[in-house]
Amino acid sequence: MKNPQYSLSATLKHPEIEAMLSKITGVSRVGAVAEASCATCSGEATSFRDAVSRKEYTISAMCQTCQDDFFGISED
Ligand SMILES: [Zn+2]
Repeated sequence: MKNPQYSLSATLKHPEIEAMLSKITGVSRVGAVAEASCATCSGEATSFRDAVSRKEYTISAMCQTCQDDFFGISED
């Protein structure tokens, strides 16, 4: 399945993207990661499917569920 949002994972370190995420979530991304919480749903972010998802969490501070919602679940 083609997911046009997938390319976001390569650009999330851009300051404007971080600012956008903070604006959307109202939560400090860095603070959320430090607390192992999700910046999107405020839930726990302690369990990830794989190393890629864990890495993504350090970038976007989204838990596995929110990552799946945001990026879509890749089956390939
Ligand atoms: Zn979440």
